[in-house]
Amino acid sequence: MAADCIFCRIEKGQIPSKKVYEDARCFAILDINPVAWGHALVIPRAHHETWLDLPADLAADLAKSSQKVGAAVKKAAGAEGFNLLMNNHACAGQAVFHAHLHVIPRKTADGIRFNWTPTPYKPGQLDMAIDAVMVAF
Ligand code: AMP
Ligand code: ZN
Repeated sequence: MAADCIFCRIEKGQIPSKKVYEDARCFAILDINPVAWGHALVIPRAHHETWLDLPADLAADLAKSSQKVGAAVKKAAGAEGFNLLMNNHACAGQAVFHAHLHVIPRKTADGIRFNWTPTPYKPGQLDMAIDAVMVAF
C-alpha cells in the first residue's frame, strides 16, 4: 500500500470506486476518463510501479485477470475486439504509478487512434537493433 497512490486507495476502499471484477490478487474498475465506453483498468492489489516491477507470478495473475475482464468488457460493449495496453513510465504516458492494464473495447471504424507513426528501419538498422536487443537479455 502506497499512501499517496490512487489505485491503492481504491483497493482499500478509501476512495469510492465500483470494482467490476475482483479476485484474490487483482481487481478491475472502469476508467473515469474512458477512450471508449466500457474502458476498464485491471489492477494488481499490491503496489508495484511498472510491469517490470511485478513479481512474475503476479504478472501472470494480472494477465489471467485481463482475459476475464477483456471477455466481459467486449461482451458488455457489444465490441468486435479490444486493445490491451499498458503504459510504463511517464515517457510512455503512465500517469498512475501503480501498474495496470487498460482494456479498451473496439469496433470497426470507431475512430480511435493511438497516434503511432511506424517508420521502417533504414538499410542495416534492423540487424543492428536485433543484435542490440539480443545482447540486452
Ligand atoms: P495511465 O496513463 O496508464 O497511468 O492511466 C491511468 C488511468 O487511470 C487514466 O486513464 C485515468 O483516466 C484513470 N484514472 C485515474 N483516476 C481514476 C479513478 N479514480 N477511477 C478510475 N480511473 C481513474
Ligand atoms: Zn498503489
